Amino acid sequence: MSAPHIVTLRERLIALITHDGPMTVAQYMGAALYDPMSGYYARRAMLGADGDFITAPEISQMFGELVGLWCAQCWLDLASPAPFHLVELGPGTGALICDIWRATAIAPGFHDAAQISLVEVSTPMRDRQATTIATATIAAAKMPAEMNPAAVMPAAMPATKMPVATWVSRLEEVAAGPALIIGNEFLDCLPVRQFVRTRDGWRERLVGVGADGALAFGLAPDVVVDDRVIPVALRQAPEGSVAEVAPALAVFVAQLAARLRTQGGRALFIDYGAATTVAGDSLQAVRAHTRVDPLEAPGGADLTAHVDFATLAALARSAGLDVAGPVAQGAWLKVLGIDVRAAALSRAQPQQAQTIARQHARLTQNDAMGALFQVICLSAPDLKTPAGFET
Ligand code: SAH
Repeated sequence: MSAPHIVTLRERLIALITHDGPMTVAQYMGAALYDPMSGYYARRAMLGADGDFITAPEISQMFGELVGLWCAQCWLDLASPAPFHLVELGPGTGALICDIWRATAIAPGFHDAAQISLVEVSTPMRDRQATTIATATIAAAKMPAEMNPAAVMPAAMPATKMPVATWVSRLEEVAAGPALIIGNEFLDCLPVRQFVRTRDGWRERLVGVGADGALAFGLAPDVVVDDRVIPVALRQAPEGSVAEVAPALAVFVAQLAARLRTQGGRALFIDYGAATTVAGDSLQAVRAHTRVDPLEAPGGADLTAHVDFATLAALARSAGLDVAGPVAQGAWLKVLGIDVRAAALSRAQPQQAQTIARQHARLTQNDAMGALFQVICLSAPDLKTPAGFET
């Protein structure tokens, strides 16, 4: 008799759990996102209006251009190393790196010195990035004469070709040398474990199989976890509170710190999350721009959790990095000049002014991405405060 043919990742996980017992939320998230056959990132090119979700670089070119100006300033702060690595973690459609490239034309020497590395696990996303980069074209225009860099940047940038990029699967594969590292909505992909405060202590939330045969959340029945697993700020949280811990974050920060401390450079992360460690279940599944049940279709929806920026900052500090921020995305973009950038773009294309105003609001307003997203910069020690983080 032949073995039953198990098709979906959901069915495989149900079989696995039935055999081995419940799995942690992090194990579930890891399988749903990264399973080599059926994980979300293995299967789908999911970004954009026709995909599952939209990110800041997809909303407006202003976002990537300001990140580009930030990169140019950092490169100058690092004493213009040549060559250096311009690294993007999880580059999505490739829009961000193209916008960064256009904007960095403003710093003479930057383009000659930069070697682009794209850290991407997903084959469909790599294909999409390659297409975006290959087709990026930029028209020439006049430079307005204001002194703010975001205004000095022409509304349409001088013609520059995107250079050849190198794709790797992990940051450690990027060759030695100083680096500017950018990660927008990258850290929210790292799987989280979840713990629930009960009367007798913290218990891990697990994914098991319910009486109806479907995937279901439950609590580890017997084991009360050691308090040291729980972030200090949450140890006294009331009954019912949920604490999230991303084990891969500590590993990632240790690797990043080892690189930045020995090779020089800095890293910028922009993501959903609070500046302080807060209790709550932030696990979220999104498909076709709609929130869905995270257990409904593993591999079929994007799964993310909020980034704990306080823990990220503490990990980075104890690994010997300097930390700037976190600051709210809206405030950071304003310091970098998004208002003048929006005005310059609207002057150049008056028929687009309303669209640009809408995009500006979405990126900066507190009830949109402005306060929901935080920006943090982790640097090799003893560098100048990075742009946008001066108090
Ligand atoms: N930065 C982009 C895309 C964010 S979506 C933007 O702002 O639009 C997350 C991206 O990270 C996708 O390209 C996804 O394929 C990639 N990714 C997710 N987990 C990853 C990992 N562990 N290593 C490398 N890339 C990863």
